[in-house]
Parts: sequence; structure tokens; C-alpha cells
Amino acid sequence: MPVNISFVIKIFLYTILLFLCLYFMVNGFNELNFYKSENIIKINRDLNLKIENNLINEKLFENESDIFLKKDDDKIKNLEKGSSNKVEKILITIKKNDTFAKVIDPYFKDNKVKNDIIQELNKAYNLKNLKIGQNIYLFINKENIINKIVIPYDFSTDIIINVLEERVELIKEKSEINEEIKSKKFTIKSSIYEDGIKYNVPLKILSDIIKLYSFDVDFQRDIRVNDQLEFSYEVLYNKERDQESYGELKYASLTLQKSILKYFVFKTDEGYIDYFDLKGKNVKKALMKTPIDGARLSSSYGMRKHPISGYNKLHKGVDFAAPKGTPIYAAGNGIVEFVGRNGGYGKYIRIRHNNSYKTAYAHLNNYKKGLHKGLRVNQGDIIGYVGSTGRSTGPHLHYEIIYNGKQINPMKMKLPPSKTLQNEELKRFNLERKKIYSDFLFNLYE
Ligand SMILES: [Zn+2]
Repeated sequence: MPVNISFVIKIFLYTILLFLCLYFMVNGFNELNFYKSENIIKINRDLNLKIENNLINEKLFENESDIFLKKDDDKIKNLEKGSSNKVEKILITIKKNDTFAKVIDPYFKDNKVKNDIIQELNKAYNLKNLKIGQNIYLFINKENIINKIVIPYDFSTDIIINVLEERVELIKEKSEINEEIKSKKFTIKSSIYEDGIKYNVPLKILSDIIKLYSFDVDFQRDIRVNDQLEFSYEVLYNKERDQESYGELKYASLTLQKSILKYFVFKTDEGYIDYFDLKGKNVKKALMKTPIDGARLSSSYGMRKHPISGYNKLHKGVDFAAPKGTPIYAAGNGIVEFVGRNGGYGKYIRIRHNNSYKTAYAHLNNYKKGLHKGLRVNQGDIIGYVGSTGRSTGPHLHYEIIYNGKQINPMKMKLPPSKTLQNEELKRFNLERKKIYSDFLFNLYE
């Protein structure tokens, strides 16, 4: 009987195996053909291409989502303006270790064509700058020949390579950009940053607003629950790519317990784009009081018990608690005077702004790449990132303003006066800010 049992088991196992084989033959095969049936480009063994279907299939599986077809005929037509040829489009997304030559290689068996493309492209575009995530579009005509490559260059420009019969031609094409104004208004419940995120304010605009107010507002002390923020900004839309980008912050108004701070963008006679209040006074100050986005003031200037030594000592700067890695900005235009380790300060940067003023930044996690002694920086440039190096109990920025060689209290500093518009320039500003405000209102409840 034991013989019979093992026989039965064998039969059973063989049956399962047979079913599995059948299953994979049917389903597995279908799955493999899934790409072929609809999503893959049917490239023939065309003389010009000489690409084997197998090769393309292999590539597809290697690169997974790298290559797929746009099924949306309208979009293809948009991209192929004026052409009635049925075209198909392949999207290649640059991945780590990809080069342009490598990614186009499977599609151009003719080395001369390939070299011509690369040579032509090198004239307008540094192929070494291809970034991970960069898209490249290949267009295939009805003879299954790739006759066009499109590389989005910047938000509004495409580089187009036309592969003609005898030569390769490169053109730069500007896409049509639609500009519109968007307005928002909200009540602050926790912070400008956190509430801004909740109200879907683009990060770039949010950061512009915070930087703008950092001259006049101490975010920790001045902002209370139920304060109001309203603003408008430019939205740029690239219809062909269905992509959005953000232009300038046009207007911002922050209603605090005791004051309302209204700022308008304005291009001065000298050509600088800057922000001015209702009286035409420039918002920007020579130095920022808070050279960091929305951080919490954790220790102010003055006598205190040192958290590490325990002795009473003058705290010669202000501390802003912020998560490790938070960007730190240059508080004003100036020249980097010191970058490096500096005792208890840990990783430290000092900037010289003019004959009287310097600022210092301590306990950094690291410096902005490329920052070095002697480098000229502009107000608002990122110079480093929050950390906890040196004598520090946790991630924070220790910030000092040094006036004539002595640390002063940044929160009580009387800032040098800023430019105030006058005469004709003021008249022009007043006209423009009224237009900006009416645009804001017009778009607010849209
Ligand atoms: Zn400190």
C-alpha cells in the first residue's frame, strides 16, 4: 500500500505542476504581452531603425516605467502642431548613471545619426548637466523612424532636434505661458508656515512671504492666534506640458494685534524688484532679525544660566530652535569672513556686511556647498543648515549681530533706514499698488 500512496502523491504533484505550467503559459504570456499589445510602440525591423522588437522589450522591462506611450491623441497632436501624421511618442526619464548617448542608443542603430544628434545638442545644451528625472521625448513617424527629439530645457523652452534625411537640425522653441494672479486669505491658527501648508500655498510663495516679513516681524512674539494673512502671487502655466510654476509674490498683508503690514512688489527706477509699504518705504532692511524660516526663538539675548556649564553668563546672541537641516540665510549682503569650526560655536560662519556690522551663525550641521571665505553673498541666500555642533544641547541656530566688534541684541537693534520712494517714482508706485490690490480682490473669491 505505501507504494500506492507515493504513486498518488506523485500524480497529484504532477497535476499541480501541469496546472502551474498552463497557468503561466496563459497568464504569464498575457502579462508579458501587456506592454506589447497597447502600450508599446510597434517598431518594425525597419531598415533605418534596425531595432529588434526583442531588444525594445528587454529595455522596457529593464527600465520599467521609463518608456511608455501617450495614449492621449490630443496631447500628441498638440505637440505635433500642424502635422497630420500619426505619431507616437516615447518618454524617457533620466535615471542615475544614465547618459544621453546611453538612453538613446537602443533607438538609433546608425552611429552617424546618433553622433550628429549628440554633436548638435552639445552646442545648445551641456549634456553633462542632464539631471536625474529629466524627461526626453522621442517621436516616431508612421514609417517607424524617430524623426524628432524634444528636451524640456526650462519652464518655457524646449530644445527640439529634428532628424532629417541628410542632417540633424536643432531649434529652441518657446512655449506659450499663461500668467494669472491667484489670491489667498487665511486666519493664522499655529504659524504662517503650518497654516500656509494647510491652505495649499505653494512652498516657494510661502517662503517668499516668510522672508519678506522676517524684517519686521518676530514670528515668535508678534504673531498671535487669529491674526490674518492675505496675499496674491503670479501663477505661470505651460499648457503644452500641463505644468505650473510660480512667479512673483505681488502683495501681502499681515494683520497683527496692533498693526497691519501691507507690502507691494515694485520695480524701481534702477531696475530692482523690491517690496514697499503704503508710504513707499522699502520693506527690506540692511539685516534680517530672523535669518531662518519660521523658527521658534528659544533663547534671547541677555544674562542667563548657561544650559551646559550652569554658570550665569551673558548670552551674546539669540537662539532659534529648528529641526536639523533647516536652511539658514545670510542676514544681509556681505562677504563671508569665516567658515569653519570655532570652539564651542561648533561649525560657524561669519559675514562682514560693512565697516560696522557683521553677523555670525553657530552650531551648524553643515555649510552650503561652495561657501568659502571671501565669497560675496546676498541677503536671503542660503549659507548653511541648522545643527547641534559645538557646545549645544540640541539643534538650533545661535545668531549674533556684531556692531563695531561687539555683539548686540538683534531683537532691539535699530536698523539702518531703507529707501523711500519719492516724486515721480512714488507716483508710479501708487498707481501700480492700486492695480495690484484690485487684482488681489478680483481674484480672491474666484
Ligand atoms: Zn546661543
